[in-house]
Amino acid sequence: MKKIYFDYAATSPVDPRVIKAMLPYFSEKFGNPMSLHGFGQEAKLALEKSRKEIADFIGAEIKEIIFTGSATESNNSVLKGLAQANKEKGRHIIISQIEHPCVRESAKWLEKQGYQITRLPVDKYGLLNPRDLENAIKKDTILVSLIHASNEIGTIQPVKELGAACRQKGVLFHTDAVQSFGKIPIDVNKMNIDLLSASSHKIYGPKGVACLYIRKGIKIEPLLHGGGQESGLRSSTSNVPGIVGFAEAVRIAKKDMKKENLRLFRLSQKLIKGLLKIEGSHLNGHPQKKLPNINNFWFDFIEGESLVMQLDLEGIAASTGSACSSVTLEPSHVLMALGLKHQEAHGSLRISLGRWSKESEINYLIRVLPQIVENLRKISPFKTSFKFD
Ligand SMILES: *Cc1c(COP(=O)(O)O)cnc(C)c1O
Repeated sequence: MKKIYFDYAATSPVDPRVIKAMLPYFSEKFGNPMSLHGFGQEAKLALEKSRKEIADFIGAEIKEIIFTGSATESNNSVLKGLAQANKEKGRHIIISQIEHPCVRESAKWLEKQGYQITRLPVDKYGLLNPRDLENAIKKDTILVSLIHASNEIGTIQPVKELGAACRQKGVLFHTDAVQSFGKIPIDVNKMNIDLLSASSHKIYGPKGVACLYIRKGIKIEPLLHGGGQESGLRSSTSNVPGIVGFAEAVRIAKKDMKKENLRLFRLSQKLIKGLLKIEGSHLNGHPQKKLPNINNFWFDFIEGESLVMQLDLEGIAASTGSACSSVTLEPSHVLMALGLKHQEAHGSLRISLGRWSKESEINYLIRVLPQIVENLRKISPFKTSFKFD
């Protein structure tokens, strides 16, 4: 049976070019960049070259990029580290209702420590309103952290306007750009961004490596104390092979972005058109202001989990809600924030495309899904009296 991967928003395979770039740094170029000898200096050179590649990509200065072990770590560092560094200034932080769990849970933890958290609502497409943000900023607000593009529905926020609102009020602005980084252009200066998180494994790089952009002059308390690597902000021996791979993934993404976006946009349009022909099917998120690769649907009377399992039997890997919350069986907080009912949010299916997605795979999904939906509806406990025909 052929296997089709439609879960690129959860993670992506490592590009063979990335593996090739990484390999020497596991073996002959294995040095510790903190060492003064030749091995160390060779590793340090690779580390700093990688930092420059990533800084240039988002219009940052080289020193403004620090490497971390995951975007979860980057986001934890921003929320907890800034809260700690600014606790004399204020104890109010603003996030949104549609953040990734690592921002949500960090905020929840800070709440228990006595911080006050405002969670901004979104409209039915998942969009934040910059006016709502302006109104929510208070004298003691120390940080605004808003996701750039949703990992569940793909909706892209008006980050430039949100950042401008923060700047006007003198509040630091962080964005979780894990899904948008490497997919759409980002310029931290033009977009008024003070801090930004990105992850390697969502853009065909290795897992366990990520970065955090911190605008010059911003003070942040590190999560990890130790040898003082990464300007003292993230002690640990540098993951040089991982970082080299991350930078190579960025180089490829930059080179191919325009063409790849158009290709994914066309595939997604075909997919959406095909799946919305199924009766009782709906698109979640904004139809235009979205990433070209993430598509989220819901189907009346069906549970997303059953849908994902049936698709798996057909060799198709998709997801319901986000990969991180699918074990809890709670409906997605993102879909609930759009105003979906509990049952509707449970019927969601995320089809996320990527570098190796092909038109034939979209055609196959469009062919097999109607029958799966029909079969599941026959046994659906939700379907009581309603009939489509
Ligand atoms: C995947 C993801 C993360 C977590 O990144 P890791 O590097 O896997 O920890 C954070 N935010 C968003 C939006 C994501 O999609």
